[in-house]
Amino acid sequence: MKNNAIARGVRTAGALVVVALFSGLAGCMTNPTTGERQFNLMSMDQEIQIGREADTQISDTMGLYPDEALQDYVSGIGLPMGANSEWPDLPWTFRVIDEATVNAFALPGGHIYVTRGILAHFNNEAQLAGVLGHEIGHVTARHASNRISKMQVAQLGVGLAVLVDPELQRIAPLAGAGMQLLFLSFSRGDENESDELGVRYMADAGYDPEALIGVMETLRRVSASGDGTRLPEWQATHPYPENRKENIREHIRDLEPQEYRSDGRDEFLDRIDGIVYGEDPRQGYSRDGVFYHPELRFSLHFPESWAVINQRQAVIAVSEQRDAALQLSISSETSIDAAADQMYGVEQITGEGITGTRINGLTAGIGTFGAQSEAGRLEGSVAFIEYDQKIYQLIGYSEAESWPTYRETVNASLRSFAALTDRDAIDVEPMRLDVIGVDRTVTLRRFYETYYEGSTPPVSIEQIALINQLELESRVNAGTRVKMVR
Ligand SMILES: [Zn+2]
Repeated sequence: MKNNAIARGVRTAGALVVVALFSGLAGCMTNPTTGERQFNLMSMDQEIQIGREADTQISDTMGLYPDEALQDYVSGIGLPMGANSEWPDLPWTFRVIDEATVNAFALPGGHIYVTRGILAHFNNEAQLAGVLGHEIGHVTARHASNRISKMQVAQLGVGLAVLVDPELQRIAPLAGAGMQLLFLSFSRGDENESDELGVRYMADAGYDPEALIGVMETLRRVSASGDGTRLPEWQATHPYPENRKENIREHIRDLEPQEYRSDGRDEFLDRIDGIVYGEDPRQGYSRDGVFYHPELRFSLHFPESWAVINQRQAVIAVSEQRDAALQLSISSETSIDAAADQMYGVEQITGEGITGTRINGLTAGIGTFGAQSEAGRLEGSVAFIEYDQKIYQLIGYSEAESWPTYRETVNASLRSFAALTDRDAIDVEPMRLDVIGVDRTVTLRRFYETYYEGSTPPVSIEQIALINQLELESRVNAGTRVKMVR
């Protein structure tokens, strides 16, 4: 969970897409990218407007990877490609999101993101350019405007509707419209078209499009996630992995033969050397049933055996039967009373309000509430805790019938919130990529064993093989640089 409030994204989000969809002219036009006549619910100006607002939300709430040189490097590759496309005047941006998942996203209007997780899986600059080209293709072929019209805009209020839909349960704090744009998945035809455009854009930029085939193979190897990470993996948002490589080969054959520049391997590896790899424990982690947040300096015992989902704007725990949830977030209000007023002011919420108390020495207010959701009546407890000049809001709830069985467990959780002072828990460090030259020709397996000799490897040999796009027994020649994790 990051230090910025859930409320900002969620509150403004609902109206955004709705307004944009119905305020302007829908029409039929010829898209210069595809040469086809397209029916679009939105004009390009509307796409730009939606994209811009969503981009702000995403930058505010998701977190960009804090490495300006790396951000500039990625922009430096993407911007000329966007400027060279059929839509050069879009407000193109290319950014690295601070996320371990392996994915890339395009927002309407030209905002493109890659995760630091996907960067760790590329071998060179050409592969990065290929994925940026593919995402540029989604923008220029205007695939999103099609999908958006099918999107349900959920009004989530203060997050009480998460019980409605297991899918929403996973993404509830991200359910602002801007965030939903990151969850669009495209059709088979869209994917194929983007691959074709990606091949063309990267070749125009001088990169050998063969590089895209290696990327597709790697993305296929990265298994689709179902582990409650904060963002979906590539396969979820870019479906239909089958036949991708064959299609890409066909598109490459259609190109005029040309001389390509170097694949930029060394430059790329220099840029990603030392980047954070995997989940960043400084943004929260669970150990022995306790959730720790080293940056925000708190700990909390979630109910035993509940699944904990740590997202940027909130931490959510969900019961085994998925019929109860506990959500911790930071209120946008600056006092306990104001935060309580905000919550009890929501139309669907009833209750007597809070009474003052102390929780592990911190000033707090605690209360009960009922709420009407689409799924039925909910009951729950809420605590507001003042800590480190922020108001933490903890809401636990279930369907009304099962609340008596959960009440005590949830209340115990709310009352377990405490300041984190344990130095060891605070000083936790993330894993990082280590780009290192191989001094004599060996198999990857042997190099791995030598590298981690005398210590416990933080990641498996399979993981190392995957990020290097190699097999365990692949020979690595002397002088080759490989990616390890330390
Ligand atoms: Zn795609």
